[in-house]
Amino acid sequence: MTFKDLNLSTQLLNALDDIGFETPTPIQEQAFSVVMSGKDVVGIAQTGTGKTYAYMLPILRMLKYSVQQNPRVLVLVPTRELVVQVVDEIEKLSKYINVRIAGVYGGTNINTQKQIVSEGLDIIVATPGRLYDLAVSRALQLKSIQKVVIDEVDVMLDLGFRHQLMNIFDVLPQQRQNIMFSATMTEDVDKLITDFFRKPIKVSIAKSGTPLENIKQHGYKVPNFYTKVNLLEHLLSDTEVFHKTIIFVGYKKIADRLFEALDQKFHDEVCVIHSNKTQNYRLRSIEQFREGKNRILIATDVMARGLDIENVSQVINLDTPEYPENYMHRIGRTGRAEKKGVSFVLTTEKEEEYLESIETLMDMKIEQLDLPDSIEISDQLTPEEQPKVKEIYNPHKRPNDEVGAAFHEKKDKNKKINLGGKYKREIKKKYKKPKTKGDKTFNLKHKKKKK
Ligand code: AMP
Repeated sequence: MTFKDLNLSTQLLNALDDIGFETPTPIQEQAFSVVMSGKDVVGIAQTGTGKTYAYMLPILRMLKYSVQQNPRVLVLVPTRELVVQVVDEIEKLSKYINVRIAGVYGGTNINTQKQIVSEGLDIIVATPGRLYDLAVSRALQLKSIQKVVIDEVDVMLDLGFRHQLMNIFDVLPQQRQNIMFSATMTEDVDKLITDFFRKPIKVSIAKSGTPLENIKQHGYKVPNFYTKVNLLEHLLSDTEVFHKTIIFVGYKKIADRLFEALDQKFHDEVCVIHSNKTQNYRLRSIEQFREGKNRILIATDVMARGLDIENVSQVINLDTPEYPENYMHRIGRTGRAEKKGVSFVLTTEKEEEYLESIETLMDMKIEQLDLPDSIEISDQLTPEEQPKVKEIYNPHKRPNDEVGAAFHEKKDKNKKINLGGKYKREIKKKYKKPKTKGDKTFNLKHKKKKK
């Protein structure tokens, strides 16, 4: 089957030709007529399967030229990076169609976005919070929305966006087509579908949990973080093989720690993204990695969900994720759209049970490799890895103390015993005015009243 066999317009076929795509991916083939039918659609497909075009092709096919001000298609995605990526993909596909597209997301100036929206548009791609703010401020009218796509629904619900999605559904017209895509079918996703979708048609290309067949998965048993760093330094020294590598870590703190460690050896080659980095920093890092200026990207799970970066040579799991789904999403960054991919997972003794859960979910074993002889086994431990010393006799413990007294002595400034009047007086002296939360709230209310 080629794209010519789908009922596409010449403009879309020409755009696909320019991009260089000839045959639809399985999810594109399956979703096309279903989305075209106008019924609600639930698509279960992992990222990397071509799902963005699976919904965008039929939507663009159906979208008629219009000069009206308000958008008719709404695409909701969980992260700002995804807004940028999806807008970019739609723009490529609509090269020969007269269609106005805008992306909006939080963390940037809302007035600039109000301005963009006020110029009129057909398709809006948004993160839920910013979309709702724009709608409530009346800068954006949602009354003409005919089609709503919610992409990466499972991540969206994991991030706690359910409430925001419900608020958005409340202000959308009743008559609309709902389309959603999720990599996994979780209980939360199922509930959302039951509550808001009308007799949806399901399209799915892989059982949730099935690993993409074109990813070669390997594992290493490594005793601790700094030995993992030694192994990474060894692997990444092969610049030819590891030319576009994503390293996943579970926490921001570890992302920063790893960045510091690798930065010494691979200075200009490494970049890092996590939610404490500014929006500009994150976008720049992704861009530099995408373009090949940096060949190593360190990322946390949420940041990288749904990100589509071409030709990722390897995904390395610095830690073995506790939730097997995270492992699936991580390795899905390589081996995208039929290309071969490679992944590694590094496992400490403590993490072995997580590895077992992953293997159970996939119903297959990950091939374990021997640590190369040259790898130095480090005995340096991170603060988290250090054994927690618990002295049995605690001289500070009072008879009626709760169980589990803090292991560390609190710093003086954090000891809040008898701070009442004296504390307030000291703060007042220091800052010239009361700085407690209560006063702030009072001032805020007071200001509002004054207006
Ligand atoms: P997605 O699952 O939407 O994130 O897409 C994964 C990657 O596959 C993106 O880089 C797309 O540009 C690419 N892709 C989408 N459709 C096709 C296709 N029909 N043939 C080849 N690559 C595609």
